[in-house]
Amino acid sequence: GSSADNLQPLESAISDEERFKGVASLTLQCPGCSQRFPFGGIVASKYYQMNFNGLQCAHCHHQFSPLQLSCQLESHIRSHISRYYAGYLKCDDSTCGVVTRQISVFGKRCLSEDCMGVMSYSYTDKQLYNQLQYFGSLFDVKKNKRELLKPLYRPDHPDAAETKIPTCQVLALGEQNRDLFQTMESVVQKYLGNCARSFVDMGSIFDFMNPE
Ligand SMILES: [Zn+2]
Ligand SMILES: [Zn+2]
Ligand SMILES: [Zn+2]
Repeated sequence: GSSADNLQPLESAISDEERFKGVASLTLQCPGCSQRFPFGGIVASKYYQMNFNGLQCAHCHHQFSPLQLSCQLESHIRSHISRYYAGYLKCDDSTCGVVTRQISVFGKRCLSEDCMGVMSYSYTDKQLYNQLQYFGSLFDVKKNKRELLKPLYRPDHPDAAETKIPTCQVLALGEQNRDLFQTMESVVQKYLGNCARSFVDMGSIFDFMNPE
């Protein structure tokens, strides 16, 4: 098989909770009442619920149109991508904290004169790729139905919902929202495809920056 096939067992052995530990949540804003909340797929939330017709705000009962959802998803993706392309470099010495866009002629040396730290990209291609994969996972019908998504909150978090959605309901909602979720996933896939191509270029251009 191809190298992608070889990666499969390894990838699926890691839970989404572990794999997406450091990602930013998909924060949505209700067009009806302006409430902001993290979206975590078909899971229990105090702020939203999934129904047979898509996503609904729990506060004002506004029903998100597919376009309202895809626009917010797309704007998140774009802001993460531009953060990556801003190309900020950060010193790895925690006591130094130098952040810059300049690449020193000495390559990896920190720009602060007395610092022995090493500069590296503060937002790496791996982080961006992982972030986009996380957004995609939220709309993965199979993953939703198997209840394998990264939990929105730790159980002791004040915003954590007290009860979970019954599995039979999760299964039904997964089917009812299949078209919507596939549309959202294709938005993510569009960018993931572009990113994978540019990572290859970026990697070779900035090879000298990578620590041995
Ligand atoms: Zn609302
Ligand atoms: Zn974001
Ligand atoms: Zn430094």
